[in-house]
Amino acid sequence: MSDLTQLTLTDALDGLEKKTFSSVELTQAFIDAIAASNPALNAYVVETPEQALEMAKASDDRRARGDAGKLEGAPLGIKDLYCTKGVRTTACSNILGEFTPTYESTVTQNLWDEGAVMLGKLNMDEFAMGSSNETSRFGPVSNPWKRAGDNRSLTPGGSSGGSASAVAADLCLGATASDTGGSIRQPAAFTGTVGIKPTYGRASRYGMVAFASSLDQAGPISKTVDDAALMLEVMCSHDEKDSTSLNVPTPHWRENVREGVKGLKIGIPKEYRVDGMSDEIEALWQQGIDWLKAAGAEIVDVTLPHTKYALPAYYIVAPAEASSNLARYDGMRYGARVDGEDLTATYEETRATGFGAEVQRRLMIGTYVLSSGYYDAYYLRAQKVRTRILEDFTTALHECDALLTPTCPSAAFAFGEKSNNPVEMYLNDIFTVTANLAGLPGISVPAALNSEGLPLGLQVIGKALDEATCFRVGGELERAAAFTARPERWW
Ligand code: GLN
Repeated sequence: MSDLTQLTLTDALDGLEKKTFSSVELTQAFIDAIAASNPALNAYVVETPEQALEMAKASDDRRARGDAGKLEGAPLGIKDLYCTKGVRTTACSNILGEFTPTYESTVTQNLWDEGAVMLGKLNMDEFAMGSSNETSRFGPVSNPWKRAGDNRSLTPGGSSGGSASAVAADLCLGATASDTGGSIRQPAAFTGTVGIKPTYGRASRYGMVAFASSLDQAGPISKTVDDAALMLEVMCSHDEKDSTSLNVPTPHWRENVREGVKGLKIGIPKEYRVDGMSDEIEALWQQGIDWLKAAGAEIVDVTLPHTKYALPAYYIVAPAEASSNLARYDGMRYGARVDGEDLTATYEETRATGFGAEVQRRLMIGTYVLSSGYYDAYYLRAQKVRTRILEDFTTALHECDALLTPTCPSAAFAFGEKSNNPVEMYLNDIFTVTANLAGLPGISVPAALNSEGLPLGLQVIGKALDEATCFRVGGELERAAAFTARPERWW
């Protein structure tokens, strides 16, 4: 395998600029790596080598003309949640059959407009519902990391498990992902990669298959904080095709990565010290605090009193919105139809065949909490809790510039370890769903290996529209952690 695939995105762009290699050479190296590794990892569900080489050739021509974009010639992977014109997009659900969009999502269009090259579509949990990639129609993705002395395959987390695994295994320079309750940050933490969910409304949701529209946000998974800053800058834009898209300028976040944290106040929310937190996670968090202190930040204790209600509120709001969004897959206008005896039977069979068990569970919960008689008791109450959670953050972030927490309560787990118990699976999202409920930006940075040799991540949550501080703190954590560990190659 060529060394080119091991470059960071920004180093690869330097190499392209200096003509050390061409985009065609770089892209070919990734195509070869995917062909060799994907059978074991299952990160890609669609590979587009011909299209990639065509895009790479066009990119080399543009660069030769002195017309290079910010991602000129960089091969990326795209989560299967993003509609890509002419390339099958199913959100890894059977119900989308062989759906091939006739249009491009705004986020991916922004990448192509800056010269990026598409390697293919990445595996994910069905409709982004999951924390382990075990609900995909195409089967689970393997994490390149394994526990020391244990040969079992681990999940890369989810729902952006394909994105995280592909970045960690050098099968792309960076990947798009999406985060409704943690699906960028948790897989990043499980694979030793960087992931950021920006402020709700920063990136357009146009052309992203909807899960829970008031929570869904696009973001990148990358090898470094600098790479994440560059990718996010290109992905974000104001878009009239998404009514929740914010009309705000997109900053140049790369400048923030090197700025350091001197003078910043970092809040430590005491409610995140949850019952049964492992010593390992506790120690990681303390290590993060010590690093930031040593770099000149002031550490303050803050409180987010409604934290314990976040997970229950999320698992009402997200399924409610999903049940509404997924109502369109009825086999008539959308969805792979399975004919029944009459219209009702056709609806029933289409939806029973097309949706997997976890999606069906969510649709039933969502329909229940929205139904008359239960709406006030569940949905309305969850919305009120959501407001309280936002108020908690507003108060806490008045006393500090950003919050530091662990990304997840544990490291990557094995297939089947949590999939039989949905509540245990949902508990994985405990530190991440809060930022979605409040619409705030959150970044996960790899910080350490646990005693089993698996990566652990630290999360920085910022004020609304203040990704800049997330990148400042994330950059400092990255320098302090100097996380250079790589998974031992078995695939
Ligand atoms: N794991 C969470 C869920 O299953 C979050 C998923 C996501 O962010 N898309 O809903």
